Amino acid sequence: NQHTDYQFITLADCAAMYRPRQQFGHKGTYGHALVVAGSRGKMGAAVLATRASLRAGAGLVSVLTAECGYTILQTTAPEAMTLLNEGENYLQGKIPELTAYQAIGVGCGIGTETETAMFLGEILGNYQRPMVIDADALNVLATRPDWHGLIPAQSILTPHPKEFSRWAGRWDNDTHKLQLLNDLSKKLQCHIVLKGAYTAIAHPNGQVTFNSTGNAGMATGGSGDTLTGILTALLAQGYTPETASILGVWLHGFAGDCAAAHYGQEALIASDLAEFLGEGFKALG
Ligand code: AMP
Ligand code: MG
Repeated sequence: NQHTDYQFITLADCAAMYRPRQQFGHKGTYGHALVVAGSRGKMGAAVLATRASLRAGAGLVSVLTAECGYTILQTTAPEAMTLLNEGENYLQGKIPELTAYQAIGVGCGIGTETETAMFLGEILGNYQRPMVIDADALNVLATRPDWHGLIPAQSILTPHPKEFSRWAGRWDNDTHKLQLLNDLSKKLQCHIVLKGAYTAIAHPNGQVTFNSTGNAGMATGGSGDTLTGILTALLAQGYTPETASILGVWLHGFAGDCAAAHYGQEALIASDLAEFLGEGFKALG
């Protein structure tokens, strides 16, 4: 039986990782995040991820989405720049120049159309820095093992249990589930965030970190899209992928706990999470 190193994330751990804003910092200091998200009917996923990136401190945020999302994004996230794609209803075709972005978060609400899958493949083939891969990007990749070599090392993958089972198959019990999580993390050399109560993060060095924040009020549509935006913003700010994965998951849960204290768990909706992100940063500083 393989030895695994388990850790429980505490506020003190996160406070030690947190780097406060510098007095003479400017927006270039905090990185440019690119959110690749949305399709007709799932444009809210792009809005949630984009707004979360803004609230998590990225210096600049751009969002790349299907044409039908242009006005929606410019209206709901005026602080972000919206890049146009030739796809009317879903992402397809030519990808933009990606060198300007310190981090990319891809997958929220993009759908799994063949053209969108090809678009995702182009992004993976033309970006070498660690990225955040979520939702439909995970679903596409689960069906294309031949593309796994294109995933940049140290990327952060954020499956919920159903998305994870598309990669890892079924598990018999929690020990087996963690074993599968560890195996995939080592194979891909990526940080894998298995979301849920006490989210588990497997790191490529074999460590597994469990989150201590969050609540069942976060079991609501769009919660995960918010996490993707947070993680992308932390990578853009220069946090290492390991630190970003731990800090981001903790901040997301902390915001959820603040939102639940304010609204109650039942009434909590995903857009509340970004509004309470600042409380988490304040608790760390
Ligand atoms: P998704 O299914 O992609 O929208 O992601 C759901 C998000 O909500 C993840 O970050 C989960 O960790 C979080 N979440 C869902 N249910 C719970 C729960 N019972 N306790 C804590 N966090 C949860
Ligand atoms: Mg999700």
